[in-house]
Amino acid sequence: QLFSLSDLEKLSVLGHGSGGTVYLVRHLPTSSLFALKVLHSNSNSSTNHEADVLARVEDCPHVVRCHGVLDVAGLCCLVLEYMPGGSLLDVLRARGRLSEELIAWVAKCVLRALLHLHAAGVVHGDVKPSNLLISRQGEVKIADFGASRLATSEEAACEEGTRAYMSPERLDSEGFQGEAGGFAGDVWALGVVLLECLVGRLPLAGPGITWAVCLGGGPQLQVPEGEASPELRSFVGRCLEREWRRRATAAELLAHPFVAKCGDCATAAWTQKLI
Ligand code: ATP
Ligand code: MG
Repeated sequence: QLFSLSDLEKLSVLGHGSGGTVYLVRHLPTSSLFALKVLHSNSNSSTNHEADVLARVEDCPHVVRCHGVLDVAGLCCLVLEYMPGGSLLDVLRARGRLSEELIAWVAKCVLRALLHLHAAGVVHGDVKPSNLLISRQGEVKIADFGASRLATSEEAACEEGTRAYMSPERLDSEGFQGEAGGFAGDVWALGVVLLECLVGRLPLAGPGITWAVCLGGGPQLQVPEGEASPELRSFVGRCLEREWRRRATAAELLAHPFVAKCGDCATAAWTQKLI
């Protein structure tokens, strides 16, 4: 599908991020809604990186689709699938915490996306609630490839993304082992997100404090006693395995009872915005 700017009517602002501003737009010829992400001009060489990566991972139902790329007065704009449910961050702000059933659903959706990305050699690099968006049907899709990288690239070890979600091996570059560590870093971040959904806050992460600093040499990162089922505890434990070589892969986690037994019913209307 080819888009021209004159066909797009700007309706509202959906969100701001470090990479750019996202607008809700209507495509006038078809009257369909899209999200238009206008990347900041100072996002230098990575300007088309996001579009390139999205083109590579296009056909996954759990990755927010890019329908086109526009150059508007030198600014790169991505025409994205509109996600009317908002982000998981919006949901956490509105509801505080999620039930285990919803946590399993979030996990299942994100793992399907990670399985697809990792098979295509893409490390997302910034898995966190504001980058997990919810469709009209209540499915969770992964968005924002601004910090992503190809596992084969030389810069596999470069640190981008958001520190609170970073795995120990990314924070401690000595322990970082290139490609495999990159994929395992996405799994770690998913574990942090799920823990955040369970307890309703980002545990241990105060300003400037990171998981690795808090946990360095100390106890393993754990689900608080009595707060979760044995399946969830075991699942999150497999994501938050400190040693990346022993951490579960996306494929292994999809077979774990915590998500394997969760139904495929997209629990529609689980966000305030969709009700
Ligand atoms: P970051 O601060 O994570 O670097 P960013 O600048 O790369 O952010 P995005 O994460 O892509 O930008 O988008 C910022 C926010 O805009 C999201 O958290 C979400 O609230 C909203 N948003 C982005 N894409 C969409 C979309 N396709 N549909 C609906 N809302 C969206
Ligand atoms: Mg973002």
